[in-house]
Amino acid sequence: MLTMAGRMAQLGTESAFEVLARAKALEAEGRSIINLGIGQPDFSTPAHIVEAGRKALADGHHGYTPANGILPLREAVAADLHRRYGVSVSPDQVLVVPGGKVTMFFAAMMFGEPGAEVIYPNPGFPIYESAIRFSGATPVAMPLYEAKGFSFDAEEVLAKITPRTRLLILNSPANPTGGAVPRSALDRLASGLERHPHVAILSDEIYSEMIYDGAEHVSLLSYPALRDRVILLDGFSKTYAMTGWRLGYGVWPELLFAAAERLAINCHSCVNAAAQYAGIAALTGPKEASRKMLAAFAERRCYIVAALNALPGFRCATPGGAFYAFPHIAGTGFDSRALQSRLLDEAGVATIAGTSFGVHGEGFLRFSYATGLPALEEAVARIGDWLRRQVTARTKIA
Ligand code: PLP
Repeated sequence: MLTMAGRMAQLGTESAFEVLARAKALEAEGRSIINLGIGQPDFSTPAHIVEAGRKALADGHHGYTPANGILPLREAVAADLHRRYGVSVSPDQVLVVPGGKVTMFFAAMMFGEPGAEVIYPNPGFPIYESAIRFSGATPVAMPLYEAKGFSFDAEEVLAKITPRTRLLILNSPANPTGGAVPRSALDRLASGLERHPHVAILSDEIYSEMIYDGAEHVSLLSYPALRDRVILLDGFSKTYAMTGWRLGYGVWPELLFAAAERLAINCHSCVNAAAQYAGIAALTGPKEASRKMLAAFAERRCYIVAALNALPGFRCATPGGAFYAFPHIAGTGFDSRALQSRLLDEAGVATIAGTSFGVHGEGFLRFSYATGLPALEEAVARIGDWLRRQVTARTKIA
């Protein structure tokens, strides 16, 4: 009889992958499914980035690299952060890792243990709560409010801090809500955090470059008073359509860097060399392809928000960033989980229940609009028809 460690039971998952598997199974039965569940750009990685990866392989970059990443990539990351936020970051603080998620897991492992508390956004990326629980720490939900554009209430968050709080996780622009935290809310939180020097902050800014009219991305790196305890999570998956390359980075405070690097050495040694060379091309090469992708997302955002708002029982706030719409659907008479499964099984549209992102996601459904406009239009038409059939069925029963 094999015995796994008790903490294995604490690991959660990302429902997007489960929904994807169910959608594939239905497709295998011959059903037509539109997948608005998965959060990855429907664009290919720009050609000059692919070419840099190919060239690196052809040039013989086949071996291990330094665990923290090759210097030209870390320098390119530092220059990019300076260009975007006007902050100075040393390449020695940049830890190149296989994807955005790794920085999150390392931060949870570094600060979480039984007795510790970690504050995290809810509804939020499901891996936060999973990694916190896995570490043995107690997850403390930071609710996000639709009425605040899915931002938090800074005073409420500060009031959740106790002497046991080790880490606070922030995410803007956010998954699943698309919310972008306004500067005023971040200012209030940042100034309150100055009173709690025992709290480290993990700022997940993986969608930092996916920001639309009327919203602004403010990096936690731009608060000098917090710099010695902010861990920045960013990467290449979303901005450069590179989800499969597994390339991301963390910017770690000097005092934490050696510990983070040691986690990397224990875990994955280094990121594959070709992906790192591709990353340099992404940061230093032409940005036209990323701009076009963002323009396409902006157009789809306008469409989907209006279209969802026109569906009976739906109410959809306009997201400031990322590529998700997070409508309130309680008016349909279904809860999130029921609507997710019925839409998938009966209307052929894959979405994700808000509850997959935490208890505060009840009453909401996540739509990824990283899919072409014709598919979005078809998905909304199918949902509209399905909703009307429910009303007709209910009327007949009555
Ligand atoms: N952080 C957030 C908020 C995300 O939505 C995702 C991916 O969906 C990640 C991090 C992870 O990104 P990566 O695929 O680069 O690991």
